[in-house]
Amino acid sequence: MTCVFCDEKNPDFTAGRLDFHYWRECPMLMECAACHTIVEVAEYRKHLLKECTAPNRPNPKVAAPVGMCPLCGGEVGRSARDMKRHLLLGGGCPKATRKPRAAAVAGLR
Ligand SMILES: [Zn+2]
Ligand SMILES: [Zn+2]
Ligand SMILES: [Zn+2]
Repeated sequence: MTCVFCDEKNPDFTAGRLDFHYWRECPMLMECAACHTIVEVAEYRKHLLKECTAPNRPNPKVAAPVGMCPLCGGEVGRSARDMKRHLLLGGGCPKATRKPRAAAVAGLR
């Protein structure tokens, strides 16, 4: 099976294993610090604006302006592909705890 977010193909991925990957490993996903929901890094700002109900959620304007990586605060560009390249290429985002695997980035080169 293939992860739909980072495109990692892994013969070990079963439905349950893939859930674990989404929850703990996938470099395209992150846990919202306020409500602990797993969201796409690229969608984090939208999550804070529209979905996050935690009373202590960060101000979305401060947390992740459009085009900025919510993890490291770096300028990455506005498209989903720009964000994907930032998270998956060159070892991934410097602040991310989830690191891309070689297998996942092959398709982006
Ligand atoms: Zn993934
Ligand atoms: Zn949240
Ligand atoms: Zn980053």
